[in-house]
Amino acid sequence: MISIVAPVFNEETVIQTFYDQLCAVIDEIDSRFEIIFVDDGSRDSSPALLNRLKQQDARVAVIALSRNFGKEIALTAGLDHSHGDAVIVIDTDLQDPPQLITQLIAEWRNGYDVVYAQRVTRAGESWFKKITAHHFYRLIQRLSHIRIPADTGDFRLLSRRAVEALGRLRERHRFMKGLFAWIGYPQKAVQYDRLPRRAGQSKWNYWRLWNFALEGITSFSTAPLRIATYFGLAVALLAFIYGAFIIYDTLVHGNPVPGYPSLMVVVLFLGGIQLIGIGIIGEYLGRLYDEAKQRPLYLVKSYQPSADCSAKAATTSSITDSHSPTSG
Ligand code: UDP
Ligand code: MG
Repeated sequence: MISIVAPVFNEETVIQTFYDQLCAVIDEIDSRFEIIFVDDGSRDSSPALLNRLKQQDARVAVIALSRNFGKEIALTAGLDHSHGDAVIVIDTDLQDPPQLITQLIAEWRNGYDVVYAQRVTRAGESWFKKITAHHFYRLIQRLSHIRIPADTGDFRLLSRRAVEALGRLRERHRFMKGLFAWIGYPQKAVQYDRLPRRAGQSKWNYWRLWNFALEGITSFSTAPLRIATYFGLAVALLAFIYGAFIIYDTLVHGNPVPGYPSLMVVVLFLGGIQLIGIGIIGEYLGRLYDEAKQRPLYLVKSYQPSADCSAKAATTSSITDSHSPTSG
């Protein structure tokens, strides 16, 4: 079975069209489907529309969140409630063309765990949004150890084990694009042209996008903390050199303004020490932050035990079975 997870926030104008287009695509595919709509606290008639779809179509599931939690949390709720062997995450505003689902599934059948849709063009978006998005992806790639693919939204397919892996990442500040990349496993891009929104309005204004970008950078990199260390070291070094120069200058050329050299040296010295101190605190804070996220240390792609161990395992299979990690 394949699950479709679609977050909905005030999408009354597009839900029906989305559903029709989606059905046209999945009816052609030889698989069972479930369509999970996550109502992220909509305040228009979306909940009523979703309930009607649910009554008409046994494949439809509706999760209604108690208020608007934001798309990232809505997606997580949908993934948590999915049952499929593969899960496809898709926007309801038809910016993610359902037609691409066929290709996503084909790549999944080729053995990829994460098949993400990559935008080649983005129609109907301002040049400012395109440019900021472009630079945001480049910046975060430089700052983070995790390779977050550029020009990728949340539109993608995840295998069951990828969904399970994501389920183990319970951090509160969820930058999904980063989390999708963090889990690793064989990943594959499928390219498409992003269409303009069919109807309704984007829920993202620039302020929200800015905060989203900060979220991404702070969730996936402690580089900003480290900046303090290096900046502090650089300033402290310059301050010490300048302090040394003032002492030298006073000794050689005398002291025209009494008190100035000692004052300057003390101020520079303390300033430098303080910046280094802040940098050191930043280093510890970065480690603390990593620990607080409680991400799993690693995920295993496959495990081939040595021949000896597997022979032993066969004879004691009843024991190992009860200890083997649950596979969902
Ligand atoms: N969405 C959501 N909760 C929110 C904001 C958006 O579930 O708080 C959903 C929305 O209904 C849509 C998808 O997330 O299906 C993408 O939102 P939008 O089109 O506004 O974002 P954009 O495409 O402009 O980045
Ligand atoms: Mg959109």
